Amino acid sequence: MNKRIISALLGAGLALGPMCAHGQDWKTITRYDKAPVKEQLTERFLKYVKMDTQSSSDTDQVPSTKGQKQMAKQLAKELKKYGVQDVKVNEYSIVTGLIPSNIKKEVPTIAFLAHMDTAPEISGKDVKPRVIRKYNGQEIVINAESKLALNSYTAPLLTKAHGHDLIVASGGTLLGADDKTGLSIIMTMVQYLYDHPAISHGPITIVFTPDEETGAGIEKLDIASLGVDYAYTVDGEDLGELMTENFNAKAFTIVFKGNRAVHPGAAQNSAFADNLLMASDFHTLLPRQQRPETTADKRGFIYVDEISNTGDTSTIKGIIRAFSDEEFASLTSTVQNAFNTVKAMNPRATGATLEFKDEYKNMKNSLPPDMIALTKTAMQAEEITPKEVSARGGTDGATLAAAGIPAPDIFAGMYNIHSELEYADVDVMEASFRTLMRLVTLWAQQNPPASANQAAN
Ligand SMILES: [Zn+2]
Repeated sequence: MNKRIISALLGAGLALGPMCAHGQDWKTITRYDKAPVKEQLTERFLKYVKMDTQSSSDTDQVPSTKGQKQMAKQLAKELKKYGVQDVKVNEYSIVTGLIPSNIKKEVPTIAFLAHMDTAPEISGKDVKPRVIRKYNGQEIVINAESKLALNSYTAPLLTKAHGHDLIVASGGTLLGADDKTGLSIIMTMVQYLYDHPAISHGPITIVFTPDEETGAGIEKLDIASLGVDYAYTVDGEDLGELMTENFNAKAFTIVFKGNRAVHPGAAQNSAFADNLLMASDFHTLLPRQQRPETTADKRGFIYVDEISNTGDTSTIKGIIRAFSDEEFASLTSTVQNAFNTVKAMNPRATGATLEFKDEYKNMKNSLPPDMIALTKTAMQAEEITPKEVSARGGTDGATLAAAGIPAPDIFAGMYNIHSELEYADVDVMEASFRTLMRLVTLWAQQNPPASANQAAN
C-alpha cells in the first residue's frame, strides 16, 4: 500500500471524528514524522544551492542571468511531478502553478512565493555546501585558509541552534540560503500535500520569482491575473519572524541650472549663477539627525545618493524612507523646503526643478488584522512564538500589497545572508514548513473575502 492510500484512509476515518480547536489537524491525519521532512528539505536545498542563480544589476533584462532560466525550468518540472496544475514559466522566468482546492466550500485562494535568485554582490557559482548534523555548539570553520568561521561574534543566533542540522558554504561564495530555503520549504509543502491527499485545503497558488534582489522580477508578475486573495513570501530569517511592515519609499530628483559662462573675475552684478553651490547648499540643509547612519529601528531618513554636474547643470538624486505616513510626509516637506530655500537664495538660477517619484508603500496599512491574527495562530498551533518584525527596506510583498494582495513575509531559517558566512538552519526550515502546512489547513476554514478590495479595509 502506498503512502497516498494510507493517508486517504486516515483522512476518511478522521472526517467522522471531532475537529480539534485548530480545525483538521494535518499532523494527526498524516502521522507526521519530522525526520523524513528534514531529509527532503536538506536534499532539495543542497540541489538548489548548487545551481548558480546570482542576479545582476548590470542589465535591464529579466531574468538578469542565464542560471535563473535553468532554475525556473527545473522548479516547474518539479511542481508538475507533484501534480501542480497549470504550471507556467513565462518569458521572464516567473514560475506559477495552482494546487486546486479539494473541498466543496468556497474558501480564499492563498499564494506562497519565494525567489530563485541570489544576491548580485557575491558569487553564487560552485557553491560547496556542507551539512553539519546535530550542531554541538562549537565554532564552525567555513574556510580555514581565509579565516572564515561561525562563532558567537560572527553568528550570535547560533546559540539557539544547539542540536540542529545546519548547512554552510565553503568560502569564496555565499550559500544561497536567501531564498533557497524558501524554495525548498514551499516545494516540500507541495510534495507533502501530494503525498497526503486527505489534508483538506483550498486553492493554493505557487509563485517563484527571479531577480528579487534587484527588485526587477516582481515588476514582471501579472499580479491581477493570479486571482489570489492572500499571499505569503517565504523569505524571512529567524524562527517565528513575521514581517508585517516595510518602508514607505520615494525617490527625488533635483536639477539646478546656473550660468557660469561669466568670467569669475567679473561675476559680481552679472548674470553669474553657481549651480555647484546650489547643489551643495541643498545637501547641507538636510538635517544630520535624519540620515541613514543616524537613524535605526522605526525612524526614517533622507539620503542623497548622487550629485552630478555637467557644465551649468547640477543634478541631485536621493531617496526618502519612513514607516509612518506622518514621518514620510514630514521628510518629504523637509526636502521640498530645502529646495525652496535654495531656489529663493538664487534668483539668477536659470532653472530649478524638484520631482518626486513614489517607489513602494509600507504594506502595514493593507494587511487585514484578521490575516495577521490567523498567521500568528498558525505559528502558535505549531508551538512557535510569533515575532512581528519591520523591514528597513522593500520586499516583493510590498509590491503585492500595493497591487491589493496582502503579503506578509514568513521566516525561512536563513542567517548571515548575502555573505560567505551565510548559513541555513534545517530545523527552523522544518518549523517554517509546519507553519505553511498549518496555514493551508486554517485558510481552508475561512470564508472568501467579500470583495477583492476587502483587504484594504
Ligand atoms: Zn530574499
